[in-house]
Amino acid sequence: MTLPENATKVLFVASEMATLAKTGGLADVVRDLSEVLPEQGIDCRVILPFYNQIPQEIREKAIPIRQTYVHFAGEDVYCGLRKLEHDGVICYFVDNEFYFFREGNIYGHNDDMKRFAFFSRAVVSLLQDLDGWSPDVINCHDWQTSLIPLYKHWFCGKLPEYSRVKTLFTIHNIAFQGEWGDPGILFSDLSLPQDVFDNGIIKMRDCINMLKAGIVMADKVNTVSENYANELGNDYFAKGLASVINEYRYKFFGILNGLGIDICNPTKLPKPFSHSDLANKAYYKKTLQEQLGLTVDSRRAVLGFVARLEDQKGCNLVLDRIHELLKADIQVVVLGTGKPHYEEQFRNIQGYGGQFVAHIGFDAKLADLIYAGADMFLMPSNDEPCGLAQMMSMKCGTVPIVRKTGGLADTVWEESDGTGRGFTFGNFDSEDMINAIYRALEVFYDQKEQWAKIMTNGMTADFSWDTSAKTYATVYNELIAD
Ligand code: ADP
Repeated sequence: MTLPENATKVLFVASEMATLAKTGGLADVVRDLSEVLPEQGIDCRVILPFYNQIPQEIREKAIPIRQTYVHFAGEDVYCGLRKLEHDGVICYFVDNEFYFFREGNIYGHNDDMKRFAFFSRAVVSLLQDLDGWSPDVINCHDWQTSLIPLYKHWFCGKLPEYSRVKTLFTIHNIAFQGEWGDPGILFSDLSLPQDVFDNGIIKMRDCINMLKAGIVMADKVNTVSENYANELGNDYFAKGLASVINEYRYKFFGILNGLGIDICNPTKLPKPFSHSDLANKAYYKKTLQEQLGLTVDSRRAVLGFVARLEDQKGCNLVLDRIHELLKADIQVVVLGTGKPHYEEQFRNIQGYGGQFVAHIGFDAKLADLIYAGADMFLMPSNDEPCGLAQMMSMKCGTVPIVRKTGGLADTVWEESDGTGRGFTFGNFDSEDMINAIYRALEVFYDQKEQWAKIMTNGMTADFSWDTSAKTYATVYNELIAD
């Protein structure tokens, strides 16, 4: 798409982007939103760490465009810059083998705070010359990039070419904050002076808190649903940061995530289906049952649960009631990876041959098959900033059963006036959850017309990025007009 010369230039700084490096919804949002923003007249590019986890064939295509040194924690640290057009989006990569060419996962290393501080510091120093392009607005995503507004202000604030660049900080999940108890690492790991701790910018309850610095220093801050933005005024959801959110409420707001047009689009499957022609959904249900060794039975309800196996996702509620649930007329499919004790407990559920399967691992193809082939999808999250999985399942006619929190409450509601899209429960409690599943089963087996109506409502809902991408574009344009 050709953009006008004067299009607003926005740089996404993120630790994940779908198909390059992904652990969750952040990656989908970065890819999908950067793809659709040009339709709103925004010239959007993305910058990421050059992880070895990026598929080799893609790494090979990323062309080196600069080699430089970044002054970080008292040393001049090597920093390569690479460039690649990926799915129509121009992506840059910060290349430093010590920080990003690591075995294992993209997160979970002892020095993660330092790795992402280096990434953020590098982005700020590269900012004015990304291949002859420099942004008007930096949109930082999550704690890994939350030091950018502070670095920009602290190191470059007096330079006019930097002060014109505005920052939006997007919180995808406030549970991850980049915290450290010992302020002694301020300089050695974050390249910051003691002042930013003493004056409270990065200090929360005597600890370093990188996310707080993003909230304090960014020109605007948003999160990924309106309901979650409201919930964050309460410490149950804000994980200790409610007072900070409330202090900066004047620049804080919610914008609901959307889904890319091709994501979980049943009309684009090899055997397409839609709300007006569901015949092929049965094909995917059969394929799912066959592939996972479940009893092939078109009549029987199949419930899917695809999630990071973390406390947030309500794994304990599912495990609490799984044996009781499997006494009902239902098949259950679990796909996830995460906390070892949850993985272990799901693996150990035995004795339900043909009725239960837990696939422990990350498998995007299987996830898509579950969205397409299951009848119901469970999301009993304790908190859920937006949630994409419930939208993906609804697009495929797989009826969600969710706890009413965050973006789940903004996207799923129970039938009362003909618009119902799923089944909901209020308390983070396994009794409430199982009752919602029983209500769903009752409608599935005994009120077929009603079930079809709920499926149709979900399948025809607008989960596209159109509205939200417009809102982001307005925010960027307002920022540069300020
Ligand atoms: P979160 O970002 O908190 O993980 P979301 O619902 O916003 O939750 O997004 C989760 C995304 O990650 C969805 O695209 C979902 O299908 C995918 N996902 C989660 N776990 C797995 C897994 N084990 N295998 C494949 N995809 C997964």
